[in-house]
Amino acid sequence: MLIDERVQRWLDVPHSERPERLARTYQLLERSGVLDALVRVPAREATVEELELVHSSRLMEAVRAASERGGLEWVGPEARTSAGTWTAALLAVGGLLEAVDRVAASELNNAFVCCRPPGHHASADQAMGFCLFNAIAVAARHVGGRVAIVDWDVHHGNGTQEIFYADPSVLFVSLHQDDLYPKGSGTLEQRGDGSTVNIPLPAGTGDAGYEYAFERVVAPALRRFRPAFILVSAGQDAAASDTHGRMSVTTEGFRSIAGQTKLLAEDLCGGRVVAFLEGGYSLDHLPLCTLAIVEALAGLMPSWERDPLELDVPTRLGDETKRAVDAARSAAGL
Ligand SMILES: [Zn+2]
Repeated sequence: MLIDERVQRWLDVPHSERPERLARTYQLLERSGVLDALVRVPAREATVEELELVHSSRLMEAVRAASERGGLEWVGPEARTSAGTWTAALLAVGGLLEAVDRVAASELNNAFVCCRPPGHHASADQAMGFCLFNAIAVAARHVGGRVAIVDWDVHHGNGTQEIFYADPSVLFVSLHQDDLYPKGSGTLEQRGDGSTVNIPLPAGTGDAGYEYAFERVVAPALRRFRPAFILVSAGQDAAASDTHGRMSVTTEGFRSIAGQTKLLAEDLCGGRVVAFLEGGYSLDHLPLCTLAIVEALAGLMPSWERDPLELDVPTRLGDETKRAVDAARSAAGL
């Protein structure tokens, strides 16, 4: 578990991607006692050389200069900076790299990185969608070798897809609400060189639909690819109370997919899996879903048996979801 105050406080304006996302998550982890069962790892700043594994100097310079000017500035579509942004962005990427290094060295079994800004919409030269630098992509390049990225954020990880679209050494598997954001991104037809697997899902998919998608597409895609390391773009905006998505996933749905990812990592790559917080904007549900994920990764007993918000959402597998998952399986040749 990796948290740093400096990534929490920047861009403190009325907006979905706000400091309270981390503050409330941290508070719940602490009060539940779960934090005591984890190793806390301090974040470090990524170096410019590390960012250059993925990003252009033009983008780095634009973010650094805007952050130094200190006011609220747009640096890309739906991507803003303020005073402190440059440091926060370096810590988010560097925090992930630190976690990846410790897991690669078997110092930690696995890790969850709780930082902001998120990264999966950022491409090599473009900040967008609250994302400035693509931490997961930098980490995949940093760790090297065969890396699988599982992206369960409700939005499509277009930046990650673009960065690795012609790179067969990185498998990118994305579960997302069909055509939510960015528009036109994440279709079945976008397959790159074959190592891009998109699973666009209908609104209202729910827990059983995500579990079905894991069984039918994510797991076989990872088994076929045989990664040496698994990275997770863990966006909890598929949560049932999140205003940015309509996917009806409960805390138990997140617990289940995190648990399945851990099992896959144990089967395929010595348990080496590191998750990085992407989206998740419900201040009620993000902390709870993240806690469930952390408990699953750490092998801890669940703090509750049912979603504490007790939302009245469908958790059973619907026909439309089944068809969407089967289509993704077929498109991926699985
Ligand atoms: Zn998202």
